Amino acid sequence: MSTATLTIDLMSIRANWRALSALSAGVTGAVVKANGYGLEAARVSRALAQEGARHFFVAVAEEGAVVRRALGPGPKIYVFSGHMETDTSLIRDHQLIPMINSVDQLLRHVEAMPDVEFGVQLDSGMNRLGLEPLEWQAVRDLVLRLKPEILMSHLACADDPQHTMNGQQLREFRDMTDGLNIPRSLAATGGILLGNSYHFELTRPGVGLYGGAPFETAQSVVTLDVPVIQVRDVDTGETVGYSNTWTAPTPRKIATVSAGYADGIMRNLGPNLSLYSERVACPVVGRISMDLIGVDITLLADTPNNLQLLNSLQSIDDLAAAADTIGYEVLTSLGSRYQRRYRET
Ligand SMILES: *Cc1c(COP(=O)(O)O)cnc(C)c1O
Repeated sequence: MSTATLTIDLMSIRANWRALSALSAGVTGAVVKANGYGLEAARVSRALAQEGARHFFVAVAEEGAVVRRALGPGPKIYVFSGHMETDTSLIRDHQLIPMINSVDQLLRHVEAMPDVEFGVQLDSGMNRLGLEPLEWQAVRDLVLRLKPEILMSHLACADDPQHTMNGQQLREFRDMTDGLNIPRSLAATGGILLGNSYHFELTRPGVGLYGGAPFETAQSVVTLDVPVIQVRDVDTGETVGYSNTWTAPTPRKIATVSAGYADGIMRNLGPNLSLYSERVACPVVGRISMDLIGVDITLLADTPNNLQLLNSLQSIDDLAAAADTIGYEVLTSLGSRYQRRYRET
């Protein structure tokens, strides 16, 4: 078999949730949007529920339905995008909690299902989702009579603890919500690390659960084993791959492995990337193809069956740095072609 294997360590995800929970002043939720950051929302949610998580967040109602099916009744599932026009039956059938983002959504929700619980998302400065301070002022008394579950907002710069935007958004959020006696949520992974004043009653970590920055002490979650399909010796001056971008400076042993940019291994990673055999780094040579990558394994005594692209030595953030992006994008780009294995004990 030449399909690469992505191993997802659910025990590490659970350990990361426990660690973030220990840092959180209040209750700790879990963000499982985008199919659990690409790792499979149903599996991830069940593992986190086993660890004690009772509050789950998704981006859209369809994702909420998947998580509800995985978890059964009980845990709360909040939908960041709120209550869109076609969401009403999904919200009802799967007991989802829409985070109301606008006056339109508020009216839609109240008309369609006045008895169904909801939360409110407030814009404290990111200008992405949520009611702005003046809108909130206009509808606040009406909303309070309807007893929202939770008031939330989201930080734009929490991955940078020094950023003045953090304090500015905290002040804005508190101006909008102090004294209302409704549970609040402001912090994602970065916000948890900013300290207790950002935590309120419920935190919402995502990327830290999956082993990503800014949660530097996270346990590694994903391992990617890529099969070696063929090995060849190349002489000095020979080239490897499309457009001849790499020329052998001395005689080399080159392995061709079975993964490529169609599997989320971005093409611009090439020059900065290595694959690992045990602890030995083997550099990528030449262009990354759609399904194939050339790797210099001259240093290895034997030809391995697999080389590792992701492991405890090379994290999603290392890949992100090499591709000039963020760990979130690396994770959510991981290919659907991989065979997936889950470690559950
Ligand atoms: C994605 C997201 C989160 C989780 O953020 P991380 O940085 O992955 O921890 C929390 N809240 C909202 C509104 C989000 O969109």
